Amino acid sequence: MSIEGGCRCSAVRYTLSIDHLPPTYACHCLDCQTWSGSTFSQQALLPEEAVHISGPVVFYDRTTGDRTSHQRMCGICHTRLYNTNTRRPGIAVMRAGTLDDSDRLDVVAHIWVKRKQPWLIVPEGVPSWPESAPPEDFLPLLMG
Ligand SMILES: [Zn+2]
Ligand SMILES: [Zn+2]
Repeated sequence: MSIEGGCRCSAVRYTLSIDHLPPTYACHCLDCQTWSGSTFSQQALLPEEAVHISGPVVFYDRTTGDRTSHQRMCGICHTRLYNTNTRRPGIAVMRAGTLDDSDRLDVVAHIWVKRKQPWLIVPEGVPSWPESAPPEDFLPLLMG
């Protein structure tokens, strides 16, 4: 089984070398709301070498303090597909909604819930944090 996804116009496609759909998290921060144009961002964390992307990818770097987020997006329709960050080299942050099977994903954690839209209720038992989560709690949920 291969896990695949791509942008809205299909010019950029990717395959993930993993054998099941990855767990995802929701980030409710203002930046994610603005950037996604939506309620929250839904993302998966994967080793960067597991991502095989093809097509006209373009890049956008955003530096905040001492860290730079290196975004990959389709050069035609500008869908964001994933990014890496100098703070955590080697980890790809995938936009989970770009997966072909995005309707079958689980959200295993919610962060920045102090900024979430009020109608959205985090299901009981799903870990959530008011702001960012401590990596030692967060990464095992997402990366095993
Ligand atoms: Zn596209
Ligand atoms: Zn966010």
